[in-house]
Amino acid sequence: MSVLPPPPLHTDAKFVVLSDWDGTITDKDSNDFMTDNLGMGREKRRELNGRILDGSMTYRDAFAAMLNSVHTPYDECKEILKKNIGLDPGFQEFYHWCKSNGIPVIIVSSGMAPIIRAVLSNLFPEAEADSIDIIANDVKYLDPEGKDWEIVYRHPESGFGHDKSKAILPYRDLPSKPTLFFCGDGVSDMSAAKHADLLFTKIMPNGDSDLLAYCKKEGIPNVPFTDFHKVLERVKEVVGGKSVESVLKEEGN
Ligand SMILES: [Mg+2]
Repeated sequence: MSVLPPPPLHTDAKFVVLSDWDGTITDKDSNDFMTDNLGMGREKRRELNGRILDGSMTYRDAFAAMLNSVHTPYDECKEILKKNIGLDPGFQEFYHWCKSNGIPVIIVSSGMAPIIRAVLSNLFPEAEADSIDIIANDVKYLDPEGKDWEIVYRHPESGFGHDKSKAILPYRDLPSKPTLFFCGDGVSDMSAAKHADLLFTKIMPNGDSDLLAYCKKEGIPNVPFTDFHKVLERVKEVVGGKSVESVLKEEGN
């Protein structure tokens, strides 16, 4: 069940890219930034992250607690994030290459769509920022101006709040199934990770990646990357005819 409508499926595409937003397409996680700077602070947030990883709290409940600690009006949050969140250095080139080759790029996020659009509008020309497909959570204003607000989950019944596998699975059931690329970095990407044909795991400059650690533990083949230049190179190869298996093998899987 979803309380929020998804964008239409790209039924004719031969290749589809689905990507996490925070920390994957962006240079830092906007929700972590809000929580650390406007809410409970980094230390308490890291405690909750630990509870997600040890299984004593769901992602959904921990993430809601983080956001509930932010009491800054929503519009102000948007402006603060527009000033502080940048793009992965290779993403614009990647996005434009995909677009000119008819490959849909869909943002699949546990964040809130209005904030993603606001940050995008700062980084992309407005028409493009408005037309990029986003499957994310939403926000509910608790007063007319949004001084107080809360996250609205796409899949409130799921421990992820937004079960990202539901964005990718409909593509697997299409009569002519496209080759599916998924890019992610964190805990919220785990539900989608095993359903991609080629999974890209973003690692931070210090080598950290919760998603990569999860893939290693579960034996899920993947291609680690530090920025989208690498994703573009590998996607180009597959579109040019190289098999996914060859790419995975070359990446040490
Ligand atoms: Mg992320």
